[in-house]
Amino acid sequence: MSGRFAPRSRRETRAVVLESLLRSGGAFRPLIARDAQLTEASISRILTELRGEDIIEEIRRPAPYVGGPTALVTLSKNIAIAGIELSNDRLSFGIGDLAGTIDYVERMPASPQLKQSEFERLFGNCLATMTQWTGKRGISIRQAALSIPGYSSANTNPIFTWDMKRLRAFLAEVLEGVPLSITNSVIAQAAFHRYSSTAAYPIEGDHLFLFVGHGVAGVVVNETAPIDTFSPFELGHMVIERNGHACRCGHKGCLEAYTSLKAVSKIIGIAESEVLHQGDGFIEALDLGDDIRTSLRERLFLLGLGLGNALNLHPVSSVVISGWPSLMPVGDRDAILEGLDESLLGGFDQDRLKLSFIAPSIGNDPQAALYYAAYCFVRGGGLEAKAEPQAALGENA
Ligand SMILES: [Zn+2]
Repeated sequence: MSGRFAPRSRRETRAVVLESLLRSGGAFRPLIARDAQLTEASISRILTELRGEDIIEEIRRPAPYVGGPTALVTLSKNIAIAGIELSNDRLSFGIGDLAGTIDYVERMPASPQLKQSEFERLFGNCLATMTQWTGKRGISIRQAALSIPGYSSANTNPIFTWDMKRLRAFLAEVLEGVPLSITNSVIAQAAFHRYSSTAAYPIEGDHLFLFVGHGVAGVVVNETAPIDTFSPFELGHMVIERNGHACRCGHKGCLEAYTSLKAVSKIIGIAESEVLHQGDGFIEALDLGDDIRTSLRERLFLLGLGLGNALNLHPVSSVVISGWPSLMPVGDRDAILEGLDESLLGGFDQDRLKLSFIAPSIGNDPQAALYYAAYCFVRGGGLEAKAEPQAALGENA
């Protein structure tokens, strides 16, 4: 069809429809048509095709208004995808559906300085267990995603200094044809917040998404752009204290060494594994004494200091923070603003910079990678990679 966009291939049209369903968690036909900028007739044809392939399902619902549609379109629960995360000093494998339901999880401890050969051994073991599980149930994985801290498409990784060519060759060999996308951990986190329905995202529009977890990283999110086009940046490895605390990257005084979940777990005297076990309620469950609270505020101040420096290099007018700072009492979070005020050019001004917080879902790895896999599946239009040689060669919708 004509319109604002150039004609799309069949794959692209299916991708637009499926992405709209992934974002909304389910919608009525007129809304999908509007979202995808397609006629209801085109939508009808595509939905019939997708239903025939068991990629979507339609559920009878009371009409939202008199004479309105009665079939709610959702993504099918029969598409199995896999999310794999190297995070929180463990390698996590998960299988779930496009709606974020996880049916299988295995987590194995991984060293913070994991060598490539050790990763391969660990990955092979986890994959074997997972394959046994899928084999018993006759499940085939349609899309997998692996998230790694520090990963970039530039083929270098300062955190895990592995040979990326060898990594891809290894994964292609052991996965035996299962499509796999590799991404940076913070992009997987951004996918989780974009597509999961667990919490309303606090803002609309372009912004910096800052993840403060086992690592600290950011990504500038353009709301209208595909999530795999974002460039992550490793805010956590900004040195804020010369000869300061040792960081896993080999340097001293990195922001991560002061503000990561691991650093916080030392302050509160609870092992990081226990924090991961408790999840987002871990701060609430604590009796924060004055000393601990003062220390945590100091770390929030440093986070603000680092964030301000990052924003001096890449100015944006809105920041969303996901991580333990999001769980702190509002008054304590003001320490971030104090830090920002000391480093941000012109100081902190709430009319120029909006700061929002979103709950991080601590310890739920590999949920984020699973959402990234769902995104990759819909982006491909739900078509087998080999079924259509090139999206650009596909028929127009
Ligand atoms: Zn570092």
